[in-house]
Amino acid sequence: MRRIGLVLAAALALLAGAEAKAQGRLPIFDCHVHYGQNDWAPYPTAKVLELFDAAGVPRVLASSTPDDGTLMLNKAAPDRVVPILRPYRSGVTSSNWFNDPNLAQYLEGRLQAGAYKGIGEFHLFDPNSADTPQVKRVTELALERDIVLHVHSGAEPVRRLFAIEPKLKILWAHAGMSEPPEVVGSMLDKYATLWTELSFRAGDVAPGGKLDARWRTLFEKYSDRFMIGTDTYVTPRWGNYVDLVEEHRQYLMQLPRELAEKIAFRNAVRMFGGGNLAGLN
Ligand SMILES: [Zn+2]
Repeated sequence: MRRIGLVLAAALALLAGAEAKAQGRLPIFDCHVHYGQNDWAPYPTAKVLELFDAAGVPRVLASSTPDDGTLMLNKAAPDRVVPILRPYRSGVTSSNWFNDPNLAQYLEGRLQAGAYKGIGEFHLFDPNSADTPQVKRVTELALERDIVLHVHSGAEPVRRLFAIEPKLKILWAHAGMSEPPEVVGSMLDKYATLWTELSFRAGDVAPGGKLDARWRTLFEKYSDRFMIGTDTYVTPRWGNYVDLVEEHRQYLMQLPRELAEKIAFRNAVRMFGGGNLAGLN
């Protein structure tokens, strides 16, 4: 009897595997790509697009320092690369952008010229950095243009941004990087226009490759609010790009297909456009 049970279990596992195969590789909309100046020579745009193909990534959200990298990538594949505008450039960095006297002029000029769907990724390490006239202007620009802010910060700076303007749409980078699932859940609960992407969190979401029960509960409860990202913030990340995507796909495959597809690409498509990617691999 036990032997028959084992055979049956093995057969069921095979069937499940076959079903997953029939559904095809889960496409990933990578919501955290940077294409910074150091990447351009070792990874020309054609090579980056090959990596997207190899990783099963039909669409990305991209920003860079300087912004020209984003524009190059977007020009190489306009249907594939959704550009967002980073405040950083020569002399303006993650630690001083919020006090940059020329910020408004720079952002307004670029936003007028380009098809940006957001501003970011920018960092707010200290919550008080959110309380400058420059940041206030950034929130106004986002609202005027109905575009998203891609914010790398803990929970408190996100609260400050929503205090400035409750109607903001915020894509919270790295789900707060080190914020525990309880905090991520309470933020999603409190702010209806907060979304989050999971770059750098695969180790927390699925320690040892197994999806953590608390994160699974969050994914079920806030199924429309999670997205996937890799964060190619330094050049060596491109060398690992396929693996970086795969570590997310691996835990998504432990969810029901419908939920996995929402987090993998449907939520991002709803926010940034791109049609139905389900047929792509
Ligand atoms: Zn980041």
